[in-house]
Amino acid sequence: MNIESFLCDGYCIVVIRDITLDKDLVEKQKKFVSNISHELKSPLTAILGFLQILKEEKEYNQVILNYMESETIKLKDLVLDILEVSKLQSYELKLQKKTINLSWLLLKICDENINLKASKFNISINTNIQDGISLIADEDKISQAIVNLLDNAIKYSNPHNQINVLLYKNFNQEILIEVKDSGIGIPENEVCYIFDRFYRAKNALSIGGNGLGLTIFKEIIEMHGGRIEVASKVGQGSTFTIILPKENLAG
Ligand code: ADP
Repeated sequence: MNIESFLCDGYCIVVIRDITLDKDLVEKQKKFVSNISHELKSPLTAILGFLQILKEEKEYNQVILNYMESETIKLKDLVLDILEVSKLQSYELKLQKKTINLSWLLLKICDENINLKASKFNISINTNIQDGISLIADEDKISQAIVNLLDNAIKYSNPHNQINVLLYKNFNQEILIEVKDSGIGIPENEVCYIFDRFYRAKNALSIGGNGLGLTIFKEIIEMHGGRIEVASKVGQGSTFTIILPKENLAG
């Protein structure tokens, strides 16, 4: 039931709507998207496997095969992200919470990202991580959220830029993870949309992406009772801050 009331010409009008059908429809749509993504995953994995075999045959045009491969990878990433969003929004997903050493985890993720991605563009990642912060949280999901933020910080930076990653507790004992880049920034009037599904800011359109990373990121942080703050200026960079409540602290 959905109830709305408003005043009109001195009368109070109350509108009561039965939204059971709307909810049913939304659930059916979610299930449909989830099923279709699931069905697409296997053939895409098979195509990628066969492309690998074809690439070993030198008589085939490698430029075309490489193009087919990178487009198939993009498609598969999109399907996996759609599947992840529908899982996170289905309420069926249960977090696998346990005690995790966040200080250690953050350092590990930064190290892996420097080696795998940032160094390719001569981007450096500086860390300022308070020691010994442990949380009760889902390690895989928290890692996924932090990796999403770092991926974006690297992707939207310019070569030779620096990224700063901070972890600390504030005076309320909340846990703050800050990822600060000095990249392209986000236009002020678009910041409010960046967590929407498929939304990409105008200044990011020439850079690859599908607009789902921050949707997944936000769902994960909210499932842990946290919130997100964004400060950004076009041409100067962006700072994303994850704020987790003190209830998540272990011990
Ligand atoms: P994607 O990066 O795949 O486009 P995301 O959901 O991760 O999708 O991000 C949504 C949009 O938010 C991006 O397209 C970009 O416009 C903006 N954005 C996110 N992170 C940053 C960042 N660190 N710097 C600049 N823009 C960003």
